[in-house]
Amino acid sequence: MTQQINSCRCGTTWTGLARAHCGACHRTFNTAGLFDAHRRDGACRDPASVWHGGGYLRQVDGIWSGPAMPERAQAAKRGRVTEAVAAHAPEPE
Ligand SMILES: [Zn+2]
Ligand SMILES: [Zn+2]
Repeated sequence: MTQQINSCRCGTTWTGLARAHCGACHRTFNTAGLFDAHRRDGACRDPASVWHGGGYLRQVDGIWSGPAMPERAQAAKRGRVTEAVAAHAPEPE
């Protein structure tokens, strides 16, 4: 497998075709979707304050990525704690 290495005039390099580097704020995003999420009204937002896919973006090895745990996974984790209770008294949906 060959990995394409991309670079920007700001000196940032990154790999992966799916990744997106912002030419305005020069942050690198793991996916184009995350890139889109940080753009609002033609300006860049601080990714740390961008809510996307069930959590705030976080920086991993210099690349802004989605939340550590998707909403479903978090729900499953919470469910694990209350599983026994829920089995006897399921919450009304
Ligand atoms: Zn930006
Ligand atoms: Zn750049």
